[in-house]
Amino acid sequence: MSTGFLTIDLDAIVANWRNLDAKTRGETAATVKADAYGLGVDHVAPALARAGVRQFFVAIAEEGVALRRILGPGPQIHVFSGHMQGDAEMIGAADLIPMINSIDQMIRHAEALPGHPSGIQLDTGMNRLGMEPAEWQGVREIVLAQGPALIMSHLACADTPEHPMNAAQLASFREMTEDTGAPLSLANTGAMLMGPEFDFDLARPGIGLYGGRPFTEANPVVTLDIPVIQCRDLEPGETVGYGNTFTATRPTRIATVAAGYADGIFRIMGPHTSLWAGSTACPVAGRISMDLIGVNITDLGQDPDHLQILGPDQGIDVLANNAGSIGYEILTSLGARYTRRYVGG
Ligand SMILES: *Cc1c(COP(=O)(O)O)cnc(C)c1O
Repeated sequence: MSTGFLTIDLDAIVANWRNLDAKTRGETAATVKADAYGLGVDHVAPALARAGVRQFFVAIAEEGVALRRILGPGPQIHVFSGHMQGDAEMIGAADLIPMINSIDQMIRHAEALPGHPSGIQLDTGMNRLGMEPAEWQGVREIVLAQGPALIMSHLACADTPEHPMNAAQLASFREMTEDTGAPLSLANTGAMLMGPEFDFDLARPGIGLYGGRPFTEANPVVTLDIPVIQCRDLEPGETVGYGNTFTATRPTRIATVAAGYADGIFRIMGPHTSLWAGSTACPVAGRISMDLIGVNITDLGQDPDHLQILGPDQGIDVLANNAGSIGYEILTSLGARYTRRYVGG
């Protein structure tokens, strides 16, 4: 067997949720869109529900349907994309709460599912999703008369607490939601770390649950061990991999491991990334291929069975840095070929 082993610590996810929940005065939901950031919503969501999470957020109605099958009746499932054409049956049957983003969506929802709960998403400056202030002003009274399940907005710069955009969006959200009497939600992970004024009634963290920045105190959640297929000796002057980008300058031992860019190990990471044998870092040698990576194990003094690319010494944010990316993208790119092992929960 030559698949990598991806170990996902459900107890760490639950501990991260509890630690984030302790920081807010309101309730704490869980954002589990994109298969719980690639970690497997069928394992992650039940573990969080058992820990006491009562509200979940997904990106699209299809994810909501899958999540309802996993969780059964009870927990609230909110859909960020709102009510799109063709969603009515899913929203109705799976008892989803669409976050209505526009007057068009509002009309569609009222016509297809009269009386079915919905929330409202407001745009406070990110210009991605939600009703703009003037649009909201026009329908505010009609919406409020129906008692929306939630009114929410999203911050563009919550990973940069000092950015003036945060205060501007907070002021805009306050102004747009003043005297609505509806439950309010503004905070993702980053906003939960910025202070109580961002709390409102419901926080909806994602990345912090899964061990990523900006929740730097998070417990690490994933480890990834990759089997070594073959080891070989190189004479000085010999090269490794496509394009000959690594040349041995001394007698060198190279391990070839069974993962590559098709498994989410981006090519661009290569020059900055090591694989680990215990506490020894073994640098990537040459280009990362689709299914294989050369690793310089000369200084290890022995041939390992496995090498670790995600673990205590090199977490998702280090790998992200090596790739000029963010932890979110590392997690959601983790490949389908790994053998997944879930711990705890
Ligand atoms: C993804 C997302 C979240 C969760 O954000 P994190 O930064 O992962 O905590 C919250 N709200 C919205 C609207 C989102 O799209």
